[in-house]
Amino acid sequence: MPGVLDPQLKQALAERVRYYNELGIYDFYRREPAETNPNATEDVIQGNPVIQPEQREAMIQRSRSVVAAAVVPEEDLFEVANPKPEGVTNPAHALRVIGEDLGDCTRCRLHKQGRKQIVFGVGNPEAELMFIGEAPGADEDQQGEPFVGRAGQLLNNMIKAMGLRREDVYIANIIKCRPPGNRTPERDECETCSPFLMRQIAAIKPKVIVALGAVAAKTLLAINAPMAEFRGRWFDFRGTKLAVTYHPAFLLRDPRQKKEAWKDLQMVMKELGMAMPAKGAE
Ligand code: URA
Repeated sequence: MPGVLDPQLKQALAERVRYYNELGIYDFYRREPAETNPNATEDVIQGNPVIQPEQREAMIQRSRSVVAAAVVPEEDLFEVANPKPEGVTNPAHALRVIGEDLGDCTRCRLHKQGRKQIVFGVGNPEAELMFIGEAPGADEDQQGEPFVGRAGQLLNNMIKAMGLRREDVYIANIIKCRPPGNRTPERDECETCSPFLMRQIAAIKPKVIVALGAVAAKTLLAINAPMAEFRGRWFDFRGTKLAVTYHPAFLLRDPRQKKEAWKDLQMVMKELGMAMPAKGAE
């Protein structure tokens, strides 16, 4: 029947697309067949015409506006183990796909330990600056959004002090479900969940990541060090600059450290070429 994909081919295509998504590649287009035989597209699916001429033309038009980096020739398939972030041309779409893949996740024990909902992440899909915390707390679990409780209010103030709005940046956590009693995430929970965060980072391509607190820093950098060794310097996180500052919840407990955190944020602002607020305006 014209216009209908063979179910096996459809499944194979869906698996292939998912495979590329896992590699951080979200944008696809159909390449013009090498031969200009108008039936060539149809031939590949055993004689079933799937693409109408007008659809085909639209696809070709679209293909011209998509970055070539997204096209992975079959023979190069296994050389894309470290996907180039430029494979993502539509971060908002990529984030939606990641969210769909995550689904109503039951991959680790947290789904049966009282979490109400998954806290995926929030903000500008094209943010230059991304904050990564530890795990959702009670308020975040309730509202489905990271950093909305007291620590979130302080994070908002920190963002504002930088001259930004919350919606300018992207905010996520190492894990997406609230651990019971707000305990520190277990290693296997981080390992199960963080691939989704890695994909979010690859989709957003921030210029700078700020890890909030030691848990986020240790997990992202795979370094077991005290905060003193993390702060005040740049790390390379898979090609993206990463800085570490105090977790806002810690700053609520020890407000004297806020000026230290402000130094960290100024280092970030400098890197992003942002104007420093006039003295006294902070
Ligand atoms: N603490 C975190 O680490 N993340 C949140 O989302 C809220 C509090």
